[in-house]
Amino acid sequence: MRPGPKQNINRAMSKKTKIVTRFAPSPTGHLHVGHAYSALFAKRAAEEGGGRFLLRIEDIDQTRCRPEYEAAVLDDLDWLGLTWEEPVHRQSDHMADYQAALTKLDEMGLIYPCFCSRKEIRAEIKRINEAPHDATADKRGPVYPGTCRRLYQDDRDMRQAAGDSYALRLNMQKAIYLAEQKRGNLTWLDLDQGEQRATPEVFGDVVLARKDEPTSYHLSVTVDDAAQGINLITRGEDLRDVTHVHCLLQALLDFEIPDYRFHHLLTDSDGKRFAKRDKSLTLQTLRGEGKTLADVKVMAGWK
Ligand code: GLU
Repeated sequence: MRPGPKQNINRAMSKKTKIVTRFAPSPTGHLHVGHAYSALFAKRAAEEGGGRFLLRIEDIDQTRCRPEYEAAVLDDLDWLGLTWEEPVHRQSDHMADYQAALTKLDEMGLIYPCFCSRKEIRAEIKRINEAPHDATADKRGPVYPGTCRRLYQDDRDMRQAAGDSYALRLNMQKAIYLAEQKRGNLTWLDLDQGEQRATPEVFGDVVLARKDEPTSYHLSVTVDDAAQGINLITRGEDLRDVTHVHCLLQALLDFEIPDYRFHHLLTDSDGKRFAKRDKSLTLQTLRGEGKTLADVKVMAGWK
């Protein structure tokens, strides 16, 4: 049995003095019309609440992020007529913050090294699924089967000493137990859909630090939103589900749980989602073709 609620975690926009939102692009390509919509959405949410709008550059993936994309992002946002508070929060400047969060989770006994390759994980999932008891699949697909969670400490030490590369994973069941001890039922407020109950267990033992990066998307955005004082997170619908994991991390790390709003995703005439690789829809291309801000707003369905 899980413990019952101990306190009602940070609630209701009404209690908040000033809205603080952010736009958080990854400089892995040029912004397209969908990003423009997302940035305008975040800015408007801040303005409606008489609040502040911040910018964060999500550049932890050093293999895919490029300075020229970042420069183009800033230029495009400027062209969209957006202004943001300085300084811009750049994730690559905050690696020590992510490390501190990992240390805290480690001290709570919630982190373990995972040496598995993708191939090994796939093979293990296949093996389990072929066995009579299939417990790993859910609607989001298979989750990590917990292989390295069950390693003996000696084996872990040996593999680390041998220099085997590893990711760091969150022990999900234990994390939920501790978070609920601290905060009671894990919930967040979706300003359009009301209070939501977090069910992070369906994600299994998520990765908090990748083999090739000392952090992960889940960890860094959670730490950054708290560090930047973001109290209203706006995102596209595609990122709705990850809130379950973020809400858990916020509770474990003693952060306030922000409120959320999700906007629909823009699609082309075939109903396909806009992607960074669709060069014809990037703001750079459209600007080059002489399109105006008003044209782009019409394309984005922005009213
Ligand atoms: N950086 C992410 C992206 O460009 C989104 C950030 C977030 O809101 O989590 O898709």
